Amino acid sequence: MSQLRIIRIHNELLGTYGDQGNAEVLAFRAKHLGIDSTIIDISYDQLIPRNGDIYLLGGAENAAQLLSLEAMKRDNALKDAISDGAVLLAVCAGFQIIGNTFWANEKKVDGLGLLDIETNAGQTERCVGDVVAHSSIFNLDLIGFENHAGRTVLGSSTKPFATVSSGYGNGDGKTDGAVQGNVIGTYMHGPILARTPALADLLIARATAQ
Ligand code: GLN
Repeated sequence: MSQLRIIRIHNELLGTYGDQGNAEVLAFRAKHLGIDSTIIDISYDQLIPRNGDIYLLGGAENAAQLLSLEAMKRDNALKDAISDGAVLLAVCAGFQIIGNTFWANEKKVDGLGLLDIETNAGQTERCVGDVVAHSSIFNLDLIGFENHAGRTVLGSSTKPFATVSSGYGNGDGKTDGAVQGNVIGTYMHGPILARTPALADLLIARATAQ
């Protein structure tokens, strides 16, 4: 690989919770690993390139989340890139967007269907606070913070990203996020890769193993 291409999608919409920092951590860690990289920002009015290595989605409130989804439904670029072996890390609103369905502004919305999950509207309090979790898939201890209304239920094609020891995670207080192949979703902000740079190294390893 000549250069690791990190695609940061809709930073202007999905940058509310600081998850855009995941791109910088990836670039920093890649440099440390002797891998040249570039961060490519794709805004709402641009098409998503298919030749990225790592794609990033962040957290947002409902209106911004719906706009981002609308833009990504213009074509199948993200799906095609993942089929070609790219890695996707999606946080909170981004996690919900790539699922089968989620609720926003009292409507059930079809997501991108890249992860076999469904997110329901939270009827009680918002899930807000610090999260402590362990990912047995990645063999990593994780910390982060969460701030979401939605509660996510995993389908049979996915595994939980992590087991939660403190916090709400997917809403049940037991699991956080989901993993399906090279697609990873989580509720953890931080940014998560700044809190646990070893996860950045693992994503880079997956993306460069093609
Ligand atoms: N709007 C979504 C929710 O409240 C996601 C929030 C977020 O990304 N932090 O569930």
